[in-house]
Amino acid sequence: MPLHIDTPLLESRPLGQATGRQVWLKLDAMQPSGSFKIRGIGHACEHHARAGKRRFLSSSGGNAGIAVAYAGRRLGVPVTVVVPESTTDTAKALIRQEDAEVIVHGATWMEANAHAQSLRDDGTAFIHPFDDPLLWHGHASLVDEVVRAGQGFDAVVLSVGGGGLMCGVVEGLQRNGLGTVPVIAAETAGAASLAQSVAAGRRVELPAITSIATTLGAKMVCERAFALTREHPVESVVVTDAAALAACERFLDDHRILVEPACGAALAIAYGEPARLARFGRVLVVVCGGASAGLAQQREWAAALAA
Ligand SMILES: *Cc1c(COP(=O)(O)O)cnc(C)c1O
Repeated sequence: MPLHIDTPLLESRPLGQATGRQVWLKLDAMQPSGSFKIRGIGHACEHHARAGKRRFLSSSGGNAGIAVAYAGRRLGVPVTVVVPESTTDTAKALIRQEDAEVIVHGATWMEANAHAQSLRDDGTAFIHPFDDPLLWHGHASLVDEVVRAGQGFDAVVLSVGGGGLMCGVVEGLQRNGLGTVPVIAAETAGAASLAQSVAAGRRVELPAITSIATTLGAKMVCERAFALTREHPVESVVVTDAAALAACERFLDDHRILVEPACGAALAIAYGEPARLARFGRVLVVVCGGASAGLAQQREWAAALAA
């Protein structure tokens, strides 16, 4: 039994009406860790547990850290997550809720990650949040499930942070004979490391992350994600923070599910840029979820943007 669940797949009338297309939602917000990340991280953790690792280590104060903590508890393997001082109490509480140890170290993720690396030993598996073929292999199960459900689609809309989700979805498309189905890759301005790389024709490192969607805030996408933009039809789209937040709010109203702005970026394409989807009949939207930004936080962001 894998650690992730086969999530609901449902047709969205509200998004269908916003786009004039058939829109199917793959509801990974319903995963036990609150995001799709448990697919790949669960797969990686099972692999490392089988190989005899006795501890999992992460340096993510977001959905990756939460997923590692969840996987460790389910597998009976102790987990340590090293996070920077900037990590929210909500995220720390979610990690501790899974019985993982949280170590707060340093002002930035760089420092927290360096400390995490210093804790590695032979018995420890370090779980990267996006740059690992084991993760992509696990994320690919999302496409397997849609195919198994018998639902056809002509395009996939998803969010891109470090690009692990995109690598996994494309792997899933390829292994199901869907290697020509385009991917619409959404990022927010201020976290658009894929869009900038596509524009420059090489992998670009952002000087800083200035979007509220910190979950998408990898300064540089993984090499495989950039390579995919040349191997696979990938359309990179950038939306504003305001559009991502507004999409979260509308989605909450329409489907009664709260997701992070990281996921709102993908939803914002359907709600706000229907022309991007005009050439497709049936669109699959990956509702990747996210547990690290609750309603109070989103209201705070909305108020700050309005001011
Ligand atoms: C991690 C995450 C992303 C981005 O995934 P990558 O694999 O880093 O591209 C998007 N949305 C949510 C909710 C996430 O947790």
